[in-house]
Amino acid sequence: MTSQKLANRVTSIRVSPSVAAAQKVRDLKAQGREILNLTVGEPDFDTPEDIKRAGIQAIEGGDTKYTAVNGTEALREGIQHDFATRLGIKCELDQICVGGGAKQILFVSMMATVEEGTEVIVPAPYWVSYPDMVVANGGTPVIVECGEDVGFKLTPEALEAAITPKTRWVILNSPSNPTGAAYSGEELRALAAVVKRHPHVLVMCDEIYDRIWFADFKAESILGVAPELAEQALVVNGVSKSYAMTGWRIGYAVGPKFLIDAINKLQSQMSSCPSSVSQAAAAAALTGPQGAVDKTVKVYKERRDRAHALINDIPGLSCTLPDGAFYLYPSCAGVIGKTTPQGKRIENDLDFVLYLLEQAGVASVHGGAYGLEPYFRISTATSMDIIEAACAKIAEAVAELT
Ligand code: PMP
Repeated sequence: MTSQKLANRVTSIRVSPSVAAAQKVRDLKAQGREILNLTVGEPDFDTPEDIKRAGIQAIEGGDTKYTAVNGTEALREGIQHDFATRLGIKCELDQICVGGGAKQILFVSMMATVEEGTEVIVPAPYWVSYPDMVVANGGTPVIVECGEDVGFKLTPEALEAAITPKTRWVILNSPSNPTGAAYSGEELRALAAVVKRHPHVLVMCDEIYDRIWFADFKAESILGVAPELAEQALVVNGVSKSYAMTGWRIGYAVGPKFLIDAINKLQSQMSSCPSSVSQAAAAAALTGPQGAVDKTVKVYKERRDRAHALINDIPGLSCTLPDGAFYLYPSCAGVIGKTTPQGKRIENDLDFVLYLLEQAGVASVHGGAYGLEPYFRISTATSMDIIEAACAKIAEAVAELT
């Protein structure tokens, strides 16, 4: 215990539940338990060789100094080219900012715009960090539940109903962590029309998983389909998930200049710039051959298909088919109210996830952490062997419930 006082922004937020779940897995493993870990939030692949080599060359070539606060021109040109060719987003180089991961860009955007009295609309289920990022910056998250009946997606009607004069942002995440649900171009256009009617509202599109795409409709971005939102939309992406570069810490965004300038101003006092070496590697990732991405997406799709089929074979569980990313979000409504062999009643998805951990040695994250119960998130960023073994163990454990 210390008598020192921490700021409210620290005491009012939680440690990320996925980080906490991953720690629990490490603790159990340290006790000698064999755990099949389905909590992982990062690719199980290594960074492709040509990208690593670009990082090594940057070190050897002396590319080891501060860069411009908003990122090197080479990287921003790579981002500009990627946004233009893949998503039809046209922007100037000074409309792009680069930071230490998409997470940092998201946080700093909140810091730049959110204060006491500000509301941020967060559709649930949501990535665990969004509400805490809002709270850490003094704002109020306005959670809008988006159930399975609407494909876990925000509808234009629900958005319209949630907007107040205090609304600053609505956060969209497509494909979504935890559900894998993605918005089609048409759905994005309908949401954009609502945002356009409310000029005080900004829309944040977190598209960090948009290359890990399985749907038969095309991956699109809100700024690509609704360029009229140029002054109201921030599109966030990064190299972590697509190129298996989580440890390199590079994320970026395109948006209106007033916002990008504000983010750059804050970052100039926070980090000066992202790592020069990582920026060189990220530029190589975006401008080099994309074969490694295609290969990993094929593997993720095989895993998704298998996990989806295995989970849906278990009586009491049911799962929608994700459009992208590497997660599944099965409903466990059919097991709520049942009793474990130890005589404990499963009251909610947290009880179920703890039961799976104890009984089956399978680690997952409960839906409550993402704001929509009763569900649980499993990650397919692990081998097919582990996915199959884990689903078999889940099936056995569910069969033992009465
Ligand atoms: N957005 C979502 C939805 C994520 O799942 C993650 C990573 N878990 C991030 C952003 C952050 O990614 P980065 O590594 O670029 O900070």
